[in-house]
Amino acid sequence: MGSPGVALGDIPSVDMMTELLRRLKCSSKPDKRLILVGPPGSGKGTQSPIIKDEFCLCHLATGDMLRAAVAAKTPLGIKAKEAMNKGELVSDDLVVGIIDEAIKKPSCQKGFILDGFPRTVVQAQKLDEMLEKQGAKIDKVLDFAIDDSILEERITGRWIHPSSGRSYHTKFAPPKVTGLDDVTGEPLIQRKDDTAEVLKSRLGAFHRQTEPVINYYAKKGVLAQLHAEKPPKEVTAEVLKALS
Ligand code: ADP
Ligand code: AMP
Repeated sequence: MGSPGVALGDIPSVDMMTELLRRLKCSSKPDKRLILVGPPGSGKGTQSPIIKDEFCLCHLATGDMLRAAVAAKTPLGIKAKEAMNKGELVSDDLVVGIIDEAIKKPSCQKGFILDGFPRTVVQAQKLDEMLEKQGAKIDKVLDFAIDDSILEERITGRWIHPSSGRSYHTKFAPPKVTGLDDVTGEPLIQRKDDTAEVLKSRLGAFHRQTEPVINYYAKKGVLAQLHAEKPPKEVTAEVLKALS
């Protein structure tokens, strides 16, 4: 609140009160470092904003960050684009670099939600090394367990608001006005890789490269398994129970 150059009197009192109440609530919350793992369409992006608000964390979704880099045609985006379009993973070094930088941001002071990272055991090991340097560790890994057969309908019906990462679904979570984001009124888009065809290779990558990450954290005793096929509110209840 209060960007440089904005006079305090120009900020509506109601906004100031909301921000003060948020800070008060956040000051009593314990720090949390969380990982959300699950196949594409399992509901990680849907649950993240709820967890973020409840525990005052930052939400770091490597897929969203990479898509922003592709759209802005940055060197990172140019390197990542081809693998993303094919539904393959981008190189470990690229994503480890963006996470290393992102977790140091002030918005991650009370901890973070990593959504879509780590996706390989090498990424998990590098993350552990990064956290060790800060004297920190992962508190909980939420495993969005779900059968592959449910995911095609979720993925092909998904619409997203690119700048916030908010996701909607034509059948399961329709926006108030068709094609528009509920908060900003801006247009929603469908992701280029949200097709039945590309989903097949994304699921292949998940089973081959990411499932071992689940075992990696199970051995460390920090894994909580969710029933991600349930309706969104029931999944939220399971998430909050796992984090209580
Ligand atoms: P992920 O981030 O894991 O790829 P999303 O949260 O974007 O998945 O969810 C994929 C799609 O499924 C979205 O369109 C979302 O609205 C919808 N969705 C998310 N959770 C559920 C659920 N529990 N039941 C039905 N549809 C869901
Ligand atoms: P997502 O938005 O999580 O579905 O990710 C979209 C795409 O971005 C994936 O299919 C990968 O190509 C790439 N990606 C996102 N996160 C990672 C990661 N941690 N490691 C490698 N590639 C990633």
